[in-house]
This record gives sequence, C-alpha cells and structure tokens, in this order.
Amino acid sequence: MGYIGDRMARRKKVYEGKAKILYEGPEPGTLIQYFKDDGQVDAKPQGAVEGKGVLNNRLSEFFMSGLNSIGVPTHFIKRLNMREQMVRMAEMMPLEVVVRNYAAGGMTERLGIPLGTALPRPIVEYYFKDEKLGNPLVSEEHIVAFGWGNQQDLDDIIALALRVNDFMTGVMLGVGVRLADFRLEVGRVWEGEFMRLIVADEISPDSCRLWDIRGLDLSEREDQGRDPVPLAEVYTELARRLGVLPSNVTHTTKPTLIN
Ligand code: ADP
Ligand code: MG
Repeated sequence: MGYIGDRMARRKKVYEGKAKILYEGPEPGTLIQYFKDDGQVDAKPQGAVEGKGVLNNRLSEFFMSGLNSIGVPTHFIKRLNMREQMVRMAEMMPLEVVVRNYAAGGMTERLGIPLGTALPRPIVEYYFKDEKLGNPLVSEEHIVAFGWGNQQDLDDIIALALRVNDFMTGVMLGVGVRLADFRLEVGRVWEGEFMRLIVADEISPDSCRLWDIRGLDLSEREDQGRDPVPLAEVYTELARRLGVLPSNVTHTTKPTLIN
C-alpha cells in the first residue's frame, strides 16, 4: 500500500454523519472533516448529488475563512484536498441555530406567514439537534434549564449568528442570491482558562435556503409554481458565481441562471 493509502487506513474515524465523516486530526484539538456527496436538507434525506462534497468543501472554506478574516471565530483551519478540511475540534452544543430573513419552511407552516415575506428583522431560532425527535424548536428557557448553555452563551450565540447573517447576506447579494435563512452549529473551544463559542460544522447550500434574486428558488425546497432549478445545479452554480469552482469540475457546470 502506498504512503497515502497507508496513512488513510490508519486514520481513526471519529464520527460518520449524513453529509460528513470526521477523522482524528493531525494535531491534538483538530479534526479532519471529509465531505460526502450524500446529504440532507431540512432533516429530509436527499439522494447523493455527485460532486456535492467537493463543492461544499470549497464553499464552507470560502465562507468560514471569510468569517475568520473579519473576526468571527470559526472552526476552519485549512483545506487539505478536494474533499477534506482541517478544523478545530469543538464541544458541540446540541443545537441547530437558525437565522431567518424571509419567511419559509417551518415558519410559514407554524405561523401561517406567506412564503417569501420579508421579516421585520432577522429572527434567531433554536432547534434541539435530535433527529429521532425531528429536531424540535426549543426556546432559550429550554436551553438554560437543560444545561445546554447559559445566558452568556445565548448572548454570544445571537451575536455570532447575526454577524454570520450580515456577512452571508452581503456575500450572497453580491452574486445575485437572496439568503432566506440558514442554519449554524456552534461549539465550545478552550483557550487556556477561557472558553469561547465558535461557528463549526459547515456553511454550504446544505445549510442555507437560497433564492435567486430574480425569483427562482435556487434551493428547490418549495414549489413556488415556478420552474424549479435542479438541486444538482445549486452547488455548481453558487460555487461558479463565487469563483470557487474547482477547475476539474467545470465541465459539469451548465450555468443557466445568469449570463
Ligand atoms: P449529522 O448527520 O449528525 O448532521 P454530519 O454529516 O453533518 O452529521 O457530520 C458532522 C458532525 O460533526 C455533526 O454531528 C456536527 O455536529 C459535528 N461537528 C461539526 N463540526 C465539528 C467540530 N469542529 N468539532 C466537533 N464536532 C463537529
Ligand atoms: Mg449535519
């Protein structure tokens, strides 16, 4: 077995989820995140989208390194290859933090607000990350009462989430995409005595609801009575617009949304 194969074989798998595999990292306190082609959108399993992992690796790198550069702490350290990146190991909070700018999905279902309504301000929601329970909506009261976080953590999460929202909204608008909502996962890291919360997991089309500024639903999650854009193209189209499309997948692109 060659050196690379040998090293891969000895690498310890820490966790395998739907979209990613986590391996032990090369240094203490690090992990390697491997992006698979399988995935899920809003807790609904999706079939594998060929090449999705490669693009999400690039896209998450792009967003997280941009966030790092403006002082929003994330787990991203560096991309290692087409499907892997090195990240800081964090103690994950059992939450999905959702920021909504436009009504869609669960918000339209729960509150009857028409799809696409601009919200008066960004709304932060928390969901308990437990698939068997269907990732139920929880309040700050639950988070504090069950010891998942304290009031300071909640303040920090909101500040992080809103900064990520401002950054992502701006980046997306720059390429003609409306960020309707997105989900984050947050984890704790320690620096000596100090604990802080960082943005972990991934930021990619898997975790964002994206609408083309011209009205097409890029994420194809709602039937808006318009021509749906195939899901397979969301990843390549976004990566192409952001200029992070790896050269070897260019041939699979069929840019159809802008000219
Ligand atoms: P899931 O199906 O559980 O959502 P994924 O396929 O998304 O899993 O795999 C990523 C897993 O790794 C998630 O459980 C996520 O909470 C966890 N994770 C993400 N970033 C980090 C990190 N920096 N440190 C530790 N765990 C992480
Ligand atoms: Mg996940």
